[in-house]
Amino acid sequence: MKNSKMNSKKQGTKAVWGGQSELFYQGATQVPIVNSVTFGYDNVDDWFDVAIGKKEGHIYSRNTNPTVAVFEEKVRILENAEAATSFSTGMAAISNTLSTFLAQGDRVVSVKDTYGGTSIVFLEFLPKNGIEVTLCETTNHEEIEAEVKKGCKMLYLETPTNPTLKILDLKRLIKSAHEVGAMVVVDNTFATPINQQPLELGADIVLHSATKYLGGHSDAMGGVACGNKDLIQQLFHYREINGASLHANTAYMLLRGIQTLELRVLRQNENAMKLAQHLEKHEKIEQVFYPGLKSHPGHKIASSQMTGFGGVFSFSIKGDFENVKLFLNSLELAHLAASLGSVSTLIGPPKVTSHVEATEEERKQLGIPETLIRCALGIENIEDIIADFDKALLKI
Ligand SMILES: *Cc1c(COP(=O)(O)O)cnc(C)c1O
Repeated sequence: MKNSKMNSKKQGTKAVWGGQSELFYQGATQVPIVNSVTFGYDNVDDWFDVAIGKKEGHIYSRNTNPTVAVFEEKVRILENAEAATSFSTGMAAISNTLSTFLAQGDRVVSVKDTYGGTSIVFLEFLPKNGIEVTLCETTNHEEIEAEVKKGCKMLYLETPTNPTLKILDLKRLIKSAHEVGAMVVVDNTFATPINQQPLELGADIVLHSATKYLGGHSDAMGGVACGNKDLIQQLFHYREINGASLHANTAYMLLRGIQTLELRVLRQNENAMKLAQHLEKHEKIEQVFYPGLKSHPGHKIASSQMTGFGGVFSFSIKGDFENVKLFLNSLELAHLAASLGSVSTLIGPPKVTSHVEATEEERKQLGIPETLIRCALGIENIEDIIADFDKALLKI
Protein backbone atom coordinates (compact mmCIF):
# COMPACT_ATOMS: atom_id res chain seq x y z
CA MET A 1 0.00 0.00 0.00
CA LYS A 2 1.39 3.40 -1.04
CA ASN A 3 1.99 5.85 1.81
CA SER A 4 0.00 8.56 0.05
CA LYS A 5 -3.09 6.37 0.43
CA MET A 6 -2.59 5.76 4.15
CA ASN A 7 -4.24 8.99 5.37
CA SER A 8 -7.75 7.63 4.90
CA LYS A 9 -7.01 4.46 6.90
CA LYS A 10 -7.65 3.81 10.57
CA GLN A 11 -4.86 3.77 13.21
CA GLY A 12 -4.55 -0.03 13.47
CA THR A 13 -4.10 -0.33 9.70
CA LYS A 14 -1.60 2.55 9.65
CA ALA A 15 0.42 0.90 12.43
CA VAL A 16 0.77 -2.27 10.35
CA TRP A 17 1.21 -0.91 6.82
CA GLY A 18 2.42 2.68 7.22
CA GLY A 19 5.83 3.24 5.62
CA GLN A 20 6.57 -0.45 5.14
CA SER A 21 6.11 -0.73 1.37
CA GLU A 22 8.92 1.73 0.64
CA LEU A 23 11.48 -0.87 1.64
CA PHE A 24 10.17 -4.34 0.78
CA TYR A 25 13.13 -6.25 -0.64
CA GLN A 26 12.86 -9.09 -3.19
CA GLY A 27 9.34 -9.94 -2.05
CA ALA A 28 10.13 -9.79 1.66
CA THR A 29 7.05 -8.91 3.71
CA GLN A 30 9.14 -7.26 6.42
CA VAL A 31 11.54 -4.34 6.27
CA PRO A 32 15.27 -5.18 6.09
CA ILE A 33 17.70 -3.93 8.72
CA VAL A 34 20.18 -1.90 6.71
CA ASN A 35 23.30 -2.12 8.84
CA SER A 36 25.37 0.09 6.59
CA VAL A 37 27.05 3.21 7.91
CA THR A 38 27.78 4.56 4.47
CA PHE A 39 26.06 4.32 1.05
CA GLY A 40 27.94 3.97 -2.24
CA TYR A 41 27.22 5.28 -5.77
CA ASP A 42 28.06 4.16 -9.32
CA ASN A 43 28.98 7.64 -10.43
CA VAL A 44 29.89 10.97 -8.91
CA ASP A 45 26.97 12.86 -10.50
CA ASP A 46 24.37 10.69 -8.72
CA TRP A 47 26.32 10.93 -5.46
CA PHE A 48 26.45 14.71 -5.80
CA ASP A 49 22.71 14.98 -6.54
CA VAL A 50 21.85 12.97 -3.40
CA ALA A 51 24.36 14.95 -1.34
CA ILE A 52 22.73 18.27 -2.27
CA GLY A 53 19.22 16.89 -1.77
CA LYS A 54 18.26 16.98 -5.48
CA LYS A 55 17.71 13.22 -5.55
CA GLU A 56 16.43 10.86 -2.86
CA GLY A 57 18.99 8.56 -1.27
CA HIS A 58 21.24 8.00 1.69
CA ILE A 59 24.81 9.11 2.31
CA TYR A 60 25.73 8.30 5.91
CA SER A 61 23.62 6.72 8.69
CA ARG A 62 24.04 9.50 11.23
CA ASN A 63 21.99 11.59 8.80
CA THR A 64 19.56 9.12 7.27
CA ASN A 65 19.20 5.35 7.04
CA PRO A 66 16.58 3.31 5.12
CA THR A 67 15.31 1.26 8.12
CA VAL A 68 15.22 4.32 10.36
CA ALA A 69 13.33 6.21 7.62
CA VAL A 70 10.56 3.57 7.63
CA PHE A 71 10.13 4.00 11.40
CA GLU A 72 9.90 7.78 10.99
CA GLU A 73 7.40 7.38 8.16
CA LYS A 74 5.18 5.09 10.20
CA VAL A 75 5.02 7.48 13.16
CA ARG A 76 4.47 10.40 10.76
CA ILE A 77 1.45 8.59 9.32
CA LEU A 78 0.08 7.68 12.78
CA GLU A 79 0.31 11.32 13.93
CA ASN A 80 -1.09 12.68 10.63
CA ALA A 81 1.98 14.90 10.31
CA GLU A 82 3.77 16.34 7.28
CA ALA A 83 7.16 15.13 8.49
CA ALA A 84 8.94 13.20 11.26
CA THR A 85 12.49 12.69 12.46
CA SER A 86 13.88 10.21 14.98
CA PHE A 87 16.36 10.15 17.87
CA SER A 88 18.35 7.67 19.94
CA THR A 89 16.10 8.20 23.01
CA GLY A 90 13.04 10.15 24.07
CA MET A 91 15.21 12.59 26.02
CA ALA A 92 17.29 13.21 22.87
CA ALA A 93 14.05 14.12 21.04
CA ILE A 94 13.16 16.53 23.84
CA SER A 95 16.57 18.14 24.40
CA ASN A 96 17.26 18.44 20.64
CA THR A 97 13.86 20.10 20.15
CA LEU A 98 14.51 22.59 22.94
CA SER A 99 18.01 23.32 21.62
CA THR A 100 16.85 23.72 18.02
CA PHE A 101 14.12 26.24 18.72
CA LEU A 102 15.36 28.12 21.81
CA ALA A 103 18.35 30.47 21.97
CA GLN A 104 19.83 32.92 24.44
CA GLY A 105 17.23 35.51 25.47
CA ASP A 106 14.23 33.32 24.57
CA ARG A 107 11.57 32.34 27.05
CA VAL A 108 9.78 29.01 27.38
CA VAL A 109 6.63 28.41 29.45
CA SER A 110 5.79 24.96 30.75
CA VAL A 111 4.36 23.20 33.82
CA LYS A 112 5.82 21.72 37.02
CA ASP A 113 4.74 18.13 36.30
CA THR A 114 6.74 17.40 33.15
CA TYR A 115 8.72 14.14 32.83
CA GLY A 116 11.65 14.08 35.29
CA GLY A 117 14.38 14.39 32.65
CA THR A 118 12.57 17.25 30.91
CA SER A 119 12.18 19.06 34.17
CA ILE A 120 15.96 18.81 34.77
CA VAL A 121 16.63 20.28 31.31
CA PHE A 122 14.29 23.16 32.22
CA LEU A 123 15.78 23.81 35.66
CA GLU A 124 19.46 23.01 35.11
CA PHE A 125 20.54 23.21 31.46
CA LEU A 126 18.39 25.83 29.70
CA PRO A 127 19.06 28.62 32.25
CA LYS A 128 22.82 27.99 31.79
CA ASN A 129 22.35 28.89 28.12
CA GLY A 130 20.54 32.13 28.92
CA ILE A 131 17.06 30.78 28.26
CA GLU A 132 14.32 31.89 30.66
CA VAL A 133 12.09 29.07 31.93
CA THR A 134 8.74 29.58 33.65
CA LEU A 135 7.10 26.48 35.16
CA CYS A 136 3.43 26.97 36.10
CA GLU A 137 1.19 25.03 38.48
CA THR A 138 0.29 22.14 36.22
CA THR A 139 -3.49 22.44 35.95
CA ASN A 140 -3.75 26.18 36.57
CA HIS A 141 -4.83 27.11 33.04
CA GLU A 142 -5.28 30.80 33.96
CA GLU A 143 -1.69 31.01 35.22
CA ILE A 144 -0.33 29.29 32.09
CA GLU A 145 -2.32 31.64 29.84
CA ALA A 146 -1.15 34.70 31.80
CA GLU A 147 2.52 33.63 31.57
CA VAL A 148 2.19 32.90 27.85
CA LYS A 149 0.59 36.31 27.30
CA LYS A 150 3.67 38.02 28.75
CA GLY A 151 5.45 36.74 25.63
CA CYS A 152 7.37 33.54 24.97
CA LYS A 153 8.98 31.62 22.13
CA MET A 154 7.59 28.23 23.14
CA LEU A 155 4.85 26.63 25.21
CA TYR A 156 5.87 23.10 26.19
CA LEU A 157 3.13 20.72 27.38
CA GLU A 158 2.61 17.16 28.52
CA THR A 159 -0.78 15.52 29.17
CA PRO A 160 -1.61 13.25 30.95
CA THR A 161 1.25 14.03 33.35
CA ASN A 162 3.37 11.84 35.56
CA PRO A 163 2.57 10.49 38.15
CA THR A 164 -0.91 11.83 39.06
CA LEU A 165 -2.26 11.92 35.48
CA LYS A 166 -3.16 15.60 35.50
CA ILE A 167 -4.90 16.76 32.33
CA LEU A 168 -4.23 19.96 30.35
CA ASP A 169 -6.72 21.44 27.90
CA LEU A 170 -4.62 21.36 24.75
CA LYS A 171 -6.93 23.31 22.44
CA ARG A 172 -7.30 26.15 24.94
CA LEU A 173 -3.59 26.45 25.74
CA ILE A 174 -2.47 26.06 22.12
CA LYS A 175 -4.78 28.93 21.17
CA SER A 176 -3.27 31.20 23.83
CA ALA A 177 0.26 30.43 22.62
CA HIS A 178 -0.55 31.01 18.96
CA GLU A 179 -2.07 34.40 19.85
CA VAL A 180 1.38 35.60 20.91
CA GLY A 181 3.16 33.82 18.05
CA ALA A 182 4.67 31.08 20.25
CA MET A 183 5.16 27.53 19.04
CA VAL A 184 3.63 24.63 20.97
CA VAL A 185 5.45 21.37 21.67
CA VAL A 186 3.55 18.43 23.20
CA ASP A 187 5.08 15.28 24.68
CA ASN A 188 2.49 12.65 23.68
CA THR A 189 4.29 9.64 25.19
CA PHE A 190 1.65 8.74 27.80
CA ALA A 191 -1.30 9.07 25.43
CA THR A 192 0.15 7.59 22.19
CA PRO A 193 -1.31 8.52 18.78
CA ILE A 194 -4.04 5.94 19.44
CA ASN A 195 -5.53 7.95 22.34
CA GLN A 196 -4.62 11.55 21.49
CA GLN A 197 -3.46 13.52 18.46
CA PRO A 198 -2.09 16.93 19.52
CA LEU A 199 -1.31 18.04 15.94
CA GLU A 200 -5.02 17.80 15.12
CA LEU A 201 -5.62 20.11 18.12
CA GLY A 202 -3.16 22.64 16.70
CA ALA A 203 0.19 21.73 18.26
CA ASP A 204 3.28 22.49 16.18
CA ILE A 205 5.47 19.59 17.29
CA VAL A 206 4.52 16.31 18.93
CA LEU A 207 7.23 14.25 20.65
CA HIS A 208 7.43 10.66 21.84
CA SER A 209 9.70 8.53 23.88
CA ALA A 210 9.41 5.53 21.51
CA THR A 211 10.95 3.52 24.35
CA LYS A 212 7.48 3.33 25.90
CA TYR A 213 4.29 2.47 23.99
CA LEU A 214 5.53 2.82 20.40
CA GLY A 215 8.17 0.11 20.86
CA GLY A 216 5.98 -1.47 23.51
CA HIS A 217 8.19 -4.28 24.81
CA SER A 218 10.75 -2.56 27.08
CA ASP A 219 13.58 -3.79 24.88
CA ALA A 220 14.52 -0.80 22.71
CA MET A 221 15.07 2.92 23.25
CA GLY A 222 14.22 5.68 20.81
CA GLY A 223 12.56 9.03 20.31
CA VAL A 224 10.63 10.74 17.53
CA ALA A 225 9.27 14.19 16.67
CA CYS A 226 6.51 15.07 14.16
CA GLY A 227 5.37 18.38 12.73
CA ASN A 228 5.35 20.42 9.54
CA LYS A 229 8.17 20.07 6.97
CA ASP A 230 9.90 23.31 7.85
CA LEU A 231 10.11 22.70 11.63
CA ILE A 232 11.12 19.04 11.23
CA GLN A 233 13.81 20.00 8.69
CA GLN A 234 15.34 22.37 11.27
CA LEU A 235 15.14 19.70 13.96
CA PHE A 236 16.59 17.03 11.64
CA HIS A 237 19.49 19.34 10.81
CA TYR A 238 20.30 19.86 14.49
CA ARG A 239 20.13 16.12 15.21
CA GLU A 240 22.15 15.01 12.15
CA ILE A 241 25.01 17.27 13.23
CA ASN A 242 24.74 16.75 16.99
CA GLY A 243 24.46 13.04 16.44
CA ALA A 244 21.68 11.61 18.65
CA SER A 245 20.59 9.34 15.78
CA LEU A 246 18.51 6.17 15.99
CA HIS A 247 20.33 2.98 14.96
CA ALA A 248 18.93 0.68 12.23
CA ASN A 249 18.81 -2.36 14.55
CA THR A 250 16.82 -0.42 17.12
CA ALA A 251 14.61 1.09 14.44
CA TYR A 252 13.73 -2.45 13.36
CA MET A 253 12.80 -3.47 16.91
CA LEU A 254 10.64 -0.36 17.27
CA LEU A 255 9.03 -1.12 13.90
CA ARG A 256 8.28 -4.66 14.94
CA GLY A 257 6.72 -3.42 18.16
CA ILE A 258 4.74 -0.55 16.70
CA GLN A 259 2.80 -2.80 14.33
CA THR A 260 0.74 -4.00 17.34
CA LEU A 261 0.43 -0.50 18.84
CA GLU A 262 -3.34 -0.25 18.49
CA LEU A 263 -4.03 -3.75 19.84
CA ARG A 264 -1.79 -3.17 22.84
CA VAL A 265 -3.00 0.33 23.69
CA LEU A 266 -6.69 -0.59 23.44
CA ARG A 267 -6.07 -3.51 25.80
CA GLN A 268 -3.99 -1.35 28.15
CA ASN A 269 -6.73 1.34 28.22
CA GLU A 270 -9.24 -1.35 29.15
CA ASN A 271 -6.98 -2.95 31.77
CA ALA A 272 -6.18 0.39 33.42
CA MET A 273 -9.86 1.37 33.55
CA LYS A 274 -10.93 -1.94 35.11
CA LEU A 275 -8.16 -1.97 37.70
CA ALA A 276 -8.68 1.72 38.56
CA GLN A 277 -12.42 1.13 39.03
CA HIS A 278 -11.73 -1.93 41.15
CA LEU A 279 -9.22 -0.14 43.42
CA GLU A 280 -11.44 2.93 43.80
CA LYS A 281 -13.89 0.71 45.71
CA HIS A 282 -11.22 -1.10 47.75
CA GLU A 283 -11.15 -0.45 51.52
CA LYS A 284 -7.34 -0.30 51.73
CA ILE A 285 -7.02 2.30 48.98
CA GLU A 286 -7.17 6.00 49.78
CA GLN A 287 -7.37 7.59 46.33
CA VAL A 288 -7.11 6.58 42.67
CA PHE A 289 -5.79 8.95 40.00
CA TYR A 290 -7.03 8.01 36.52
CA PRO A 291 -8.50 10.43 33.97
CA GLY A 292 -11.00 7.75 32.94
CA LEU A 293 -12.69 7.94 36.36
CA LYS A 294 -15.50 10.48 36.88
CA SER A 295 -13.83 11.38 40.21
CA HIS A 296 -10.72 12.68 38.39
CA PRO A 297 -10.66 16.50 38.10
CA GLY A 298 -9.45 16.25 34.47
CA HIS A 299 -12.07 13.72 33.38
CA LYS A 300 -14.17 16.16 31.33
CA ILE A 301 -11.25 17.65 29.39
CA ALA A 302 -9.73 14.20 28.89
CA SER A 303 -13.03 12.92 27.49
CA SER A 304 -13.10 15.77 24.99
CA GLN A 305 -9.53 15.46 23.68
CA MET A 306 -8.69 11.76 24.14
CA THR A 307 -10.25 8.67 22.56
CA GLY A 308 -8.92 6.46 25.37
CA PHE A 309 -7.53 7.28 28.81
CA GLY A 310 -4.26 5.36 28.61
CA GLY A 311 -2.61 2.46 30.39
CA VAL A 312 -1.08 4.37 33.32
CA PHE A 313 -2.80 5.25 36.57
CA SER A 314 -1.74 5.82 40.16
CA PHE A 315 -3.24 5.24 43.59
CA SER A 316 -2.41 5.88 47.22
CA ILE A 317 -2.64 3.23 49.91
CA LYS A 318 -4.06 4.00 53.36
CA GLY A 319 -1.45 4.15 56.12
CA ASP A 320 2.28 4.66 55.72
CA PHE A 321 5.11 3.66 53.37
CA GLU A 322 5.54 0.30 55.18
CA ASN A 323 2.16 -0.67 53.68
CA VAL A 324 3.40 0.30 50.21
CA LYS A 325 6.39 -2.01 50.66
CA LEU A 326 4.25 -4.87 52.01
CA PHE A 327 1.92 -4.57 49.04
CA LEU A 328 4.56 -4.22 46.30
CA ASN A 329 6.78 -6.98 47.67
CA SER A 330 3.81 -9.37 47.55
CA LEU A 331 2.90 -8.83 43.89
CA GLU A 332 3.65 -11.71 41.51
CA LEU A 333 2.40 -10.39 38.16
CA ALA A 334 4.13 -7.01 37.99
CA HIS A 335 7.75 -5.95 37.70
CA LEU A 336 8.82 -3.54 40.41
CA ALA A 337 10.44 -1.29 37.85
CA ALA A 338 10.48 2.20 36.35
CA SER A 339 9.14 2.97 32.86
CA LEU A 340 5.79 2.27 31.20
CA GLY A 341 4.24 1.08 27.96
CA SER A 342 5.47 -2.50 28.10
CA VAL A 343 3.49 -5.69 27.46
CA SER A 344 4.05 -6.61 31.12
CA THR A 345 2.71 -4.58 34.03
CA LEU A 346 5.27 -2.23 35.63
CA ILE A 347 4.72 -0.74 39.05
CA GLY A 348 6.57 1.46 41.54
CA PRO A 349 6.26 4.31 44.03
CA PRO A 350 7.25 7.80 42.71
CA LYS A 351 9.02 8.24 46.08
CA VAL A 352 11.51 5.60 44.84
CA THR A 353 11.36 6.22 41.07
CA SER A 354 10.53 9.50 39.29
CA HIS A 355 10.53 11.72 42.41
CA VAL A 356 13.29 10.07 44.44
CA GLU A 357 15.32 13.29 44.51
CA ALA A 358 12.43 15.48 45.66
CA THR A 359 11.91 16.16 49.38
CA GLU A 360 8.69 15.12 51.13
CA GLU A 361 7.64 18.79 51.09
CA GLU A 362 8.29 19.10 47.32
CA ARG A 363 6.29 15.93 46.64
CA LYS A 364 3.48 17.34 48.75
CA GLN A 365 3.48 20.54 46.68
CA LEU A 366 3.16 18.48 43.50
CA GLY A 367 0.20 16.64 45.04
CA ILE A 368 2.11 13.36 45.35
CA PRO A 369 1.08 11.44 48.51
CA GLU A 370 3.91 9.53 50.27
CA THR A 371 2.02 6.25 49.70
CA LEU A 372 1.41 6.87 45.98
CA ILE A 373 2.04 3.97 43.61
CA ARG A 374 2.16 4.34 39.83
CA CYS A 375 1.03 1.40 37.77
CA ALA A 376 1.56 1.00 34.01
CA LEU A 377 -0.65 -1.84 32.87
CA GLY A 378 0.56 -4.46 30.45
CA ILE A 379 -1.57 -6.60 28.16
CA GLU A 380 -2.14 -9.47 30.62
CA ASN A 381 -5.67 -10.71 31.36
CA ILE A 382 -7.05 -8.23 33.85
CA GLU A 383 -8.77 -10.92 35.97
CA ASP A 384 -5.31 -12.29 36.86
CA ILE A 385 -3.93 -8.84 37.65
CA ILE A 386 -6.92 -7.95 39.85
CA ALA A 387 -6.59 -11.25 41.75
CA ASP A 388 -2.86 -10.62 42.22
CA PHE A 389 -3.52 -7.07 43.54
CA ASP A 390 -6.26 -8.30 45.90
CA LYS A 391 -3.99 -11.00 47.29
CA ALA A 392 -1.16 -8.50 47.85
CA LEU A 393 -3.51 -5.98 49.51
CA LEU A 394 -4.52 -8.67 52.01
CA LYS A 395 -0.89 -8.62 53.27
CA ILE A 396 -1.45 -5.14 54.69
C1 LIG B 1 10.29 8.03 29.35
C2 LIG B 1 9.79 9.36 28.99
C3 LIG B 1 10.63 10.29 28.37
C4 LIG B 1 12.10 10.01 28.11
O1 LIG B 1 12.29 8.97 27.20
P1 LIG B 1 13.64 8.09 27.13
O2 LIG B 1 13.38 7.24 25.94
O3 LIG B 1 13.74 7.35 28.42
O4 LIG B 1 14.77 9.04 26.96
C5 LIG B 1 10.09 11.52 28.02
N1 LIG B 1 8.81 11.83 28.27
C6 LIG B 1 7.97 10.96 28.88
C7 LIG B 1 6.57 11.37 29.14
C8 LIG B 1 8.42 9.70 29.25
O5 LIG B 1 7.59 8.86 29.87
